[in-house]
This record gives sequence, C-alpha cells and structure tokens, in this order.
Amino acid sequence: MIKQKDVDYLRVKPGKKIDLKDFNTEWDKLKKFEAYGSDTLKEKVNLLLQQNLTDLTKAQQLLYADDRYSLLIVFQAMDAAGKDGTIKHVMSGVNPQGCQVYSFKKPSLEDVEHNFLWRYAKCLPERGHIGIFNRSYYEDVLAVKVHPELLRNLPEGKRNKAFWQNRYEDINAFEQHLYRNGTVILKFFLNLSKHEQKKRFLDRIDKPEKNWKFSAADLTERACWQDYMSAYEDAINATCTEWAPWFIVPADNKWVTRALVAETITSTLKSLDLNFPKLGKDQADLLVKAREALAKE
Ligand code: ATP
Ligand code: MG
Repeated sequence: MIKQKDVDYLRVKPGKKIDLKDFNTEWDKLKKFEAYGSDTLKEKVNLLLQQNLTDLTKAQQLLYADDRYSLLIVFQAMDAAGKDGTIKHVMSGVNPQGCQVYSFKKPSLEDVEHNFLWRYAKCLPERGHIGIFNRSYYEDVLAVKVHPELLRNLPEGKRNKAFWQNRYEDINAFEQHLYRNGTVILKFFLNLSKHEQKKRFLDRIDKPEKNWKFSAADLTERACWQDYMSAYEDAINATCTEWAPWFIVPADNKWVTRALVAETITSTLKSLDLNFPKLGKDQADLLVKAREALAKE
C-alpha cells in the first residue's frame, strides 16, 4: 500500500511557497513508484487502487453512521487532466446515497447576481456525506483571474493584486468556517504537463468515439497555459491552510493519479475518530423486546 508518508509528499505545507516547476507531472519521477517498470505499473497501481476502494467503502459507511463530519473534495486542473476519470474510478465503490458530485461550468446569470461563493455554498455536502466539486470556487481566482473580463456587476474598483488577495482571504475564511462546523476539506490539483495535454487532445481529435470530449475552448485555454500556471501557483500558495490542504498530484499517468487520490481520501477518512453511534438504554431495551416479539411469531 502507498503509505501515509507517500501522500504527505503530495501535500503542500502551509506557509511554504511552491513553484509548480518543481513538481513532477510524471509517475516515474516519483520515488515510491521507482521499483515499478512501465510494463507492470498499471497492474500494480490498479491493485493499490482496489485495496483503497475497499477501505473507502467501509470508511464511507462509518462516516454516514457517525453523522458528525462531511467530506468536501475539490478537483481543479487544466482540461484533459483526468478529473472526470479520477472521480469515476475513485468513487466507484462508494454508496451513491452518501455521495454527490457537482460539476461547475461557467456561472449562470443568476449566479453572477450573487456573491462568488453563493452557487457553491448551495451544493455543500450534509453531515455523513461526501461532496465532490469538479471545478469549484477556485475558478473564480483561476479562470476569472486569467480572463478578468468575466468579472461583471461588481462595485467599482481596481482588479489589482489586492482584489485577488481579498478573494483568497474570502476563500480561506469560508473554508475555515466549514472546517469548524465539521467539514473535512481535501483539494486536489491534478498536475498535467503541457506536452501530455497535447497528446490527449490529439487522441480526442483522432478517435471518433472521443470527438465529443473536445471543444474549441480547449485550445483557447491552452494558449493561456502560463497565465493559468501562475494563477494556480498564487492560489495554492495563498489558500493552502491546515484546515484545507492542497495536494499536487502528478497527472501524466491516469492510473497513478487515481491511486494517489484514492489513497489520500481513504487515509483521511480513516484518520477521523469515526464511530458507529452507541445505543442508549431505551434503544437497547427496544431491541431486546423486538427480538422476543419476532421469536414468538
Ligand atoms: P469537460 O471538458 O471534461 O466536459 P470541464 O470541467 O472542462 O469538463 P467545460 O464545459 O469544458 O467543462 O468547461 C467549463 C469551463 O467553465 C471551464 O473553462 C472553466 O474555467 C469555466 N468556469 C467554471 N467555473 C467558472 C467561473 N466561476 N467563472 C468563470 N468560468 C468558469
Ligand atoms: Mg473542458
């Protein structure tokens, strides 16, 4: 199994400034996988994933029964980094009744008539549940920072460094509020290389069954790659806190991404003091009586 210390390697330390150039997007640059050859990688990593999915199923059941915490999982990445596939695989073993996935696209007119956190606040997971945000309020300091013309209907003022700093502070305060109320937050940046994105786009263009996944906007956003990388760096540096950590996950190999994300989620849930609710005396008596009644039938 990937040990806790291995996922700690992905965790950004609060207060430590990161530079995305220092982070590998490739699996074979990761120490923990160096013993695997590329031939056996998929098979071995798949085994790790399966083990974690089994543990995750049990941990989710306990989260639901315990009913004190909720888990919010945020996925952010460039296009084709594998958010959808990761969500599909990692959540394949969980009970759909205890899990909700929200994919956030461009905001609606109603959304922009409200503060920028409004539409996300409506989708937060209730206690006992896992909520997944496929894109999130971070778009409001990523896509919107790269394309400031998207800012509409706001009071006058400069859209300068202080403006974005205020948004980071709003996000930190929002996440701290959630944390203090029992929401555990995990934020994943799937770190894809520009080179691998090109390969995946070409694959989507070349394979008819994948054509639907490609959109013209994919190339316009790719053209802003460097701006996005700076926006990601600034956002991660400003919002990596003890109460809402960021994990930077290598994304050039889909199997490795899925295994590392599954391990992080599973080990986080296991680290919570989750318990099945203890029966009160009244309820214990009720069970004894019910058993007697059923035995008499
Ligand atoms: P896929 O491409 O796999 O369908 P996706 O998440 O990329 O998934 P798209 O419809 O392609 O979905 O893109 C959604 C777009 O909406 C992204 O370019 C994203 O930056 C943009 N977006 C999301 N939230 C906001 C926001 N709050 N403000 C502005 N743009 C946003
Ligand atoms: Mg897209």
